[in-house]
Amino acid sequence: MTRTTIAEALQWASSVLSATSESAHVDAEVLLLHCLGKNRSFIYAWPERQLTDEQHKQLQQMVARRAQGVPVAHIVGEREFWSLPFIVNESTLIPRPDTEILVETALNLPLAENAAVLDLGTGTGAIALALAHERPQWQVCAVDNVGAAVELAKANRKNLALPQVEILKSDWFSELAGRKFQLIASNPPYIEENDEHLAQGDVRFEPRSALTAGQQGFAALFHIAEHAREFLLPGAYLLLEHGFTQGRRLREKLNELGYLQVATVRDFGSNERCTLG
Ligand code: GLN
Repeated sequence: MTRTTIAEALQWASSVLSATSESAHVDAEVLLLHCLGKNRSFIYAWPERQLTDEQHKQLQQMVARRAQGVPVAHIVGEREFWSLPFIVNESTLIPRPDTEILVETALNLPLAENAAVLDLGTGTGAIALALAHERPQWQVCAVDNVGAAVELAKANRKNLALPQVEILKSDWFSELAGRKFQLIASNPPYIEENDEHLAQGDVRFEPRSALTAGQQGFAALFHIAEHAREFLLPGAYLLLEHGFTQGRRLREKLNELGYLQVATVRDFGSNERCTLG
């Protein structure tokens, strides 16, 4: 095999991926860094350094998988969220930057120093673990109804050294009888079942149960909003991520259910993304 430099490998991977990925250059960087076991500055500091045969072969295999559409996060087994590394696999949603808005909104709420906080449908544990990382005194509980997701969230809890976070298998509130929280947060499935967006990109490789819900995508959002009232302390908050066209109907629903000060927060793309009540 002919030897390849870092610069050549990056250029090659990026050009192969540009046929199938809108983020070809970033994808190529992430895959190359994973093969090299280095951080980003390394590839620009040492562009002339050569890959070993083994690194070159690994890169070729990874690029081939990415070219078939497999998400980069699944290929490298990791995704950064809230500047923390999360282990990911096929059993949950891959954490999205959009959801950092929910974390930021939660951190800005006037909660008690040792507030009890619940994350429903935690998946990788991204929301719960990011909150616990920022507020070590909060009593954070995370639940998911999928056993493999609970295991993954526990692996992330261990990896991020946040043993105080409680992680349970629960179908929304089913295992939480009698518990009360100051904040209930969730990024539930909210995409309409026949949405054409599901036929393209990374979502094809993510579980449908983490993405789609009935009632035009509102089934899980409405279920949580209805049942959360029983689990919220007086003056507590419900914070839900949703699709950017779902804000108005969700605000109406929360108002109907008696939530006060209902307000929608926009994401970095200025789309309506989270609603608070
Ligand atoms: N925002 C994600 C997407 O559009 C979906 C997340 C979710 O369903 N909770 O791919």
